[in-house]
Amino acid sequence: HVKHGDFLRGMKNQKNNPALSRLKKEIRRLKGLLERDELTGLLNRRGFKLVLEKIFQEVHWTRRHPEKRKSVRVESLAILFLDIDHFKKLNDQYGHDVGDQALRFIARLIGDRLRGIDLVSRWGGEEIVVGLLGANQTAARVVAEDIRQLIASSPLKVKGKKILLSVSIGVASLNKERNLDELIDKADKVMYQAKKRGRNLVRVG
Ligand code: GH3
Ligand code: MG
Ligand code: MG
Repeated sequence: HVKHGDFLRGMKNQKNNPALSRLKKEIRRLKGLLERDELTGLLNRRGFKLVLEKIFQEVHWTRRHPEKRKSVRVESLAILFLDIDHFKKLNDQYGHDVGDQALRFIARLIGDRLRGIDLVSRWGGEEIVVGLLGANQTAARVVAEDIRQLIASSPLKVKGKKILLSVSIGVASLNKERNLDELIDKADKVMYQAKKRGRNLVRVG
């Protein structure tokens, strides 16, 4: 029985070993399958939590040990929980393929507005969860409002038709939550308030 890490260490000295290159490539491919959503290319729930849980712990730790804080440490974290409005109607009216196109389109628009270090995941069917590293509540609200406006003002073009889309967004920034699930749960609940208030809205928890 050889552990994965030991195996790779053992092969480390072999520069330009084609078998090793193939193996590394294969691992990257499998990681992609495990951690990314096929339709949108965004992280899936597993991939997102894998990365963000570590960051959550880091922020949590930094807050409890302010004296040990280094300038590089991330000191805040915010979550945006987005849910596409009336997505079922879109599918019913235009078909599942157009629904899929809308998902990809919205994923791209969100990515356009974020920085490279932010994390975006397809959380479920038509739900997208974003992790904003280093963002406090005020900063997160601005990003959420920008994304909402960008989506509402960018119609999806299908066969000469322009389809208007919108999202409801819940914003939650790290306060007293003890783990990532609690923080995401907060953002989800806030998102539902945006739905209740009429959709195409940002609410902050
Ligand atoms: P609301 O504004 O309240 O969010 O209404 P909604 O219609 O968006 O919400 P609901 O949860 O009723 O419907 C979500 C729909 O998303 C139902 C499901 O068929 C669709 N859906 C989920 N995943 C996919 C997907 O991968 N592709 C497509 N085309 N549709 C999907
Ligand atoms: Mg939903
Ligand atoms: Mg929806």
